[in-house]
Amino acid sequence: MLVNEYKAVPIVVQESASVYDAIVTLFLEDVGTLYVVNQKGHLAGVVSRKDMLRASLGNKALEGMPVSIIMTRMPNIVTCTPEDSLFVAAKKLIDFQIDSLPVIRPSEEDPKLMELLGRVTKTTIARAFVELGSEPLV
Ligand code: ADP
Repeated sequence: MLVNEYKAVPIVVQESASVYDAIVTLFLEDVGTLYVVNQKGHLAGVVSRKDMLRASLGNKALEGMPVSIIMTRMPNIVTCTPEDSLFVAAKKLIDFQIDSLPVIRPSEEDPKLMELLGRVTKTTIARAFVELGSEPLV
């Protein structure tokens, strides 16, 4: 079972987007984690619902606060590749105590830059688990 077969579409915001816009995107897209991309679409960071809750505490001006201030940024992001097994991805989610892993591939122009191909979340793993349990026994 490979990441490539199970990955979901990544939900992204631009680095320049405000925390307010990111929260709106979180609700509109019905996800728990957003990926932050730079102008060329390369992965720059990850922002989770708790990152946004923390930023919202107190009366801060969320419309004027760029999401890049509160995100977890590269190179501290735990990622996986399309060729990884779903098991390896699930183990990373558990070991690093996170909800979501960006699926990436190094850019051809600069291998330090990451192209974003998808996401693997705890929901992805639960769905694969249910699929396994639903297979008829032979
Ligand atoms: P939440 O904070 O909403 O419970 P997570 O457990 O996924 O969601 O996130 C915990 C922290 O880890 C947050 O600060 C978030 O920015 C960070 N984080 C989330 N996903 C990743 C990842 N793939 N790599 C590194 N850090 C991550």
